[in-house]
Amino acid sequence: MSRFFSPRFSDLTPYVPGEQPRDMAYIKLNTNESPFPPDPAVVKAVREETGRLRLYPDPTGLRLKEVLEEAYGLPADCFLLGNGSDEILFLAFLTFCDAEHPVVMPELSYGFYPVLADLCRLPRTVIPLKEDFSLNLDAFRSKKGMAVFANPNAPTGLAVSTDEIETLLKADPDRLVLVDEAYVAFGAESCLPLIPRYDNLLVVRTSSKSHSLAGARLGFAAGSKELIRDLETVRNSFHPYNINRMTMAAGIAALKNGEYYRANCAAIAKIREMTRRELLKMGCRVLPSRSNFLFASPPDGRGEEWYLKLKEKGILVRWFRGEKTAPFIRVSIGTEEQMKAFLKETEEYIKGADHEKG
Ligand code: PMP
Repeated sequence: MSRFFSPRFSDLTPYVPGEQPRDMAYIKLNTNESPFPPDPAVVKAVREETGRLRLYPDPTGLRLKEVLEEAYGLPADCFLLGNGSDEILFLAFLTFCDAEHPVVMPELSYGFYPVLADLCRLPRTVIPLKEDFSLNLDAFRSKKGMAVFANPNAPTGLAVSTDEIETLLKADPDRLVLVDEAYVAFGAESCLPLIPRYDNLLVVRTSSKSHSLAGARLGFAAGSKELIRDLETVRNSFHPYNINRMTMAAGIAALKNGEYYRANCAAIAKIREMTRRELLKMGCRVLPSRSNFLFASPPDGRGEEWYLKLKEKGILVRWFRGEKTAPFIRVSIGTEEQMKAFLKETEEYIKGADHEKG
């Protein structure tokens, strides 16, 4: 720490993203990226845009918002663009919460939420999950503050219905509910259709997973015009050009072609189900996922050993320390071939672990 570091951040524990090791070529199943390349039209659009890099991008992102309007049926001014959905989450915490307006989040969800709450110096209320790891939205109702959760949730992959979310929205129209739909395209119900009826709903989406654009850093939020205007006020106070020209071009091309990403997401969901079936056959506990990853525990419940063995064999998955999470690994869904390699090493690991026991 330098002597200049502001004391208000001295106890901050930053978010730790999944490893990006360089020591060998891994099968990378640890950061929920898409195993498929972006649409060829995206690559072409980005290449063309490089010729215009001399110029600033449009700070309003209007063309991209019009494509969003076309794709999702909400007016262009109901959308906010972000440098990844992480930036939007930060903006929402900064814009709508403060010392008197806390944030309410599940005990287990995207690890960035508590970090952002600390960065923004926000009081936070943590809602325990149900016994089966699902979100307890009823328990959110009695707690004041902006509700934030991922649907499907991370790292469990479990989803709640939009009916349950609507009940929460109705219960208190003066409380804001932020639904992070990073993984919704892999098989859950989206809340976007609720936006015209609930001005206390903010939906956050990303192109990182479903549209194979994790490297481009493009997310968007959808909500009432008033909510979006508030977010734009804060965004324009620190980052008016937050979406660079190449990303803007990538987003326009990617969102115009709904077919390409829907086919990819369907293929990933199919590979996920195949993987889940095989893991269940081996005696693993696997939560029913609606996302592009599985949260699974081996028969002996030793998640960290499984993670380490896979890493030794060149397969990278994610393991989270903590009482509830330690028996599990989170494995992102790759191509069929990658998942077969994962299953093969897993089978050998489980047989080996049995042998050690016996
Ligand atoms: N929300 C959730 C639930 C996530 O898992 C992630 C990715 N790690 C994000 C948001 C952020 O995605 P991005 O910043 O790439 O849009």
